[in-house]
Amino acid sequence: MPRSPAVARTLPSLRRALGDLRARRATVALVPTMGALHDGHIKLVQHAKRRASKVVVSIFVNPTQFAPHEDFGSYPRTWKADLAKLAAERVDLVWNPGVGTMYPPNFATRILPEGPATENLEDRFRPHFFGGVATVVGKLFTQCRPDIAVFGQKDYQQLKVVTRMAADLDLGVKVIGVPTVRERDGLAMSSRNVYLTPEQRAVAPVLHRTMKEAAKRLRNGDDLKAVIADGGRTIESAGFTLDYFEARHAETLAPILSIQDGPVRLLVAAKIGTTRLIDNIGI
Ligand code: AMP
Repeated sequence: MPRSPAVARTLPSLRRALGDLRARRATVALVPTMGALHDGHIKLVQHAKRRASKVVVSIFVNPTQFAPHEDFGSYPRTWKADLAKLAAERVDLVWNPGVGTMYPPNFATRILPEGPATENLEDRFRPHFFGGVATVVGKLFTQCRPDIAVFGQKDYQQLKVVTRMAADLDLGVKVIGVPTVRERDGLAMSSRNVYLTPEQRAVAPVLHRTMKEAAKRLRNGDDLKAVIADGGRTIESAGFTLDYFEARHAETLAPILSIQDGPVRLLVAAKIGTTRLIDNIGI
């Protein structure tokens, strides 16, 4: 069996471990996660391995990006299985701080991103979310000082927010986005897919199917407004409550009127039962 990676849970032990890793002028890649690891996360790790000589994976379920009514308490936590998967990928270090280490008493500073973080997509439905993400990712970057950081395109707006933040704050980290890993039927892998009942799981691939169909129609020159309206209806008639289904500029995330305003990204968020799923594709 592959050897378990080193695990750091306190800042002094993180610093010691990073010092050891960097001793031979290694380049370091960081892969931030909230655990409950699936093949999408593992793809990020494999990407990181190709781009840097040492790979650090953080596992931290960040309370500040959840609203009080959201699933922080029930978010899946699968530490042993996660560690075994990271051992199999020969990850060098796992950074697994407790909430009190990340947010000690009297913690009172936040990063409030704008630009892609305020384009009326996720931010409209989760107004607390990007402040929580930017603050924790900012901390992870300053704690680990990686050369590169690897994120999934699955969380497309988040990828744009983090990329902007790293540049704006001169954090010296190159942010890399990795394409979404999907189940065979097209459903984007997500730690939250375990919440789906078998019936909901059977319906869930409609999100990806609808985006693919919309992308095809747009490429064929169909009217953007009509394509988006049809897609929204398809998703709702499958049993989802739609938060948004939109075509946006792939870089700025600003609204567009036609695909000539592109490059274009289709983004969707919808709820089935109590589970909220997000996805996106390029066209
Ligand atoms: P999470 O643990 O859900 O916060 O995700 C940690 C990282 O994994 C984020 O950068 C996500 O975008 C990425 N990720 C999650 N699901 C996938 C997927 N299906 N394919 C690729 N990356 C993913």
